[in-house]
Amino acid sequence: MTQQVYKELYEIMKSRRGPYSGVEIPEFYDMVQELFTPQEAEVNNAMPAKPLTAAGIAAEMNRDEDEIRGILETMADKGLCKTFRKGDVRYYQGEPFMPGIFEYQFMPGKATDRDKRIAQLIRAYKNAFNTAKGAPKMTFPVTRVITVDRTIEAGNTVYTYDQVSTYIDKNETIGVGTCYCRHSAKLVGEDTHDMPMEVCMWFGSMAAYAIERLGARAMTKAEARRVLDLAEEAGLVHMSRNTTENVNFICNCDRWHCEVIKGVLKQPKPALFFNSGFQPRFDPDLCTACETCIERCPPEALVMGENEVPQVDLDRCFGCAVCATGCPSQAIAMECKPDFPVPPKDPKELIVSLKASFAKQG
Ligand code: SF4
Ligand code: SF4
Repeated sequence: MTQQVYKELYEIMKSRRGPYSGVEIPEFYDMVQELFTPQEAEVNNAMPAKPLTAAGIAAEMNRDEDEIRGILETMADKGLCKTFRKGDVRYYQGEPFMPGIFEYQFMPGKATDRDKRIAQLIRAYKNAFNTAKGAPKMTFPVTRVITVDRTIEAGNTVYTYDQVSTYIDKNETIGVGTCYCRHSAKLVGEDTHDMPMEVCMWFGSMAAYAIERLGARAMTKAEARRVLDLAEEAGLVHMSRNTTENVNFICNCDRWHCEVIKGVLKQPKPALFFNSGFQPRFDPDLCTACETCIERCPPEALVMGENEVPQVDLDRCFGCAVCATGCPSQAIAMECKPDFPVPPKDPKELIVSLKASFAKQG
C-alpha cells in the first residue's frame, strides 16, 4: 500500500506540471517519502485540479470528513497544499512542486534536522532530474526583471509595472519570507556569499496567506522599502512574474542560487528570457574605470572597453541596474530598450503567450 500510494503520487505530481514536475527515479521516492506521510500522500492524490472543500475530498475518498479535514490542515501548515476561504467556506487545492511545495518548505528560514534532510533530498532530486531530462527548454519568459527605477534616465517612459515601489504603494498587506534558493543552499552547506536572506516579498491576499500559513512575516511599507534598499545594495536582482497586473510577489535573486537565473544563464542568449526592458548607458566623462560594475553584474555581461569605459553584451544583460546602483561615480543610467515588448497583462494572457511560443517552436 505504501509503495503504491507514492507511485500514484508520482503520476499526480507529473500531471501538475511546472519545473521538476515528476520523473520516476529513486531520488523522487526518497524525497516524497520525507515530504508526505502515506496518509498525506493519499489525500494529495485524491485532490482534483480545482479547489475543493474537505467534505468534497472526503466524499471522493469515501472517508470521514473530520479525519480528512485534519490531514488537510496539517498539509497546509507543512506547505503541501494550498487553502483559502471564499465567504464562510474553506477550500483546499493540490500544489505542484514549483512554484509551490519546494519554496513553501523554507519560507520560515528554520534549520531543523528535518529542514536539512528535506533540502538535501530536494537537491538530490533536482540534480538527478536535470541529468535525466536535460536543462529545461525555454520559450516565452514567465518571469521578468524589474529594474531599479531611481536609476532610469530622465525622459524615458516608465510604466508603473516597471517600478517596484508600485507594488508596495498599492498593497496594504505585505509579507516577507526567507529566500528558498539561498536558504536551501545554506542548509546543504553551500556558500551564500553573505547575501541577505529574508527578502522574498508577497503582496495582498498571497501575503496574507504566506503570513497565516507558511511562516512569512508581516511588514509595514517602510520596512518593505528597507528590504528593497538592502537587496539593491547587496546586488540582488528584483524579479517577478512576467505580467503587468496581478503581480503578487517580488523575489530578490542572486546569480549563484536562484533557479531562474541559473536556468537562463544556460541559454545561449540569456537576455531573451529574463529582461526588464532597460539597458545601461555609461557616461565616459564620469567613469573612473574602477570595474565595480563589472564585478557586480550578475550575468557577467560587462567587460572593460578599449576606451576604459565598460561595454555591455546585450545578449546577456538583464537590465537589472545592479551595475548602476553600485557605481561610485553615478556614471551609469538605465535607458529603455527600443521596441521592447509589453509583458502580458495577467496570468491568463501569459499562458496564451507561452502556449503560442511552444507551438511556434514545435
Ligand atoms: S562602476 Fe562606474 S566608474 Fe566604475 S567602471 Fe563601472 S561605470 Fe565606471
Ligand atoms: S550590465 Fe549587468 S548589472 Fe548592468 S543592467 Fe545589465 S545585467 Fe544588470
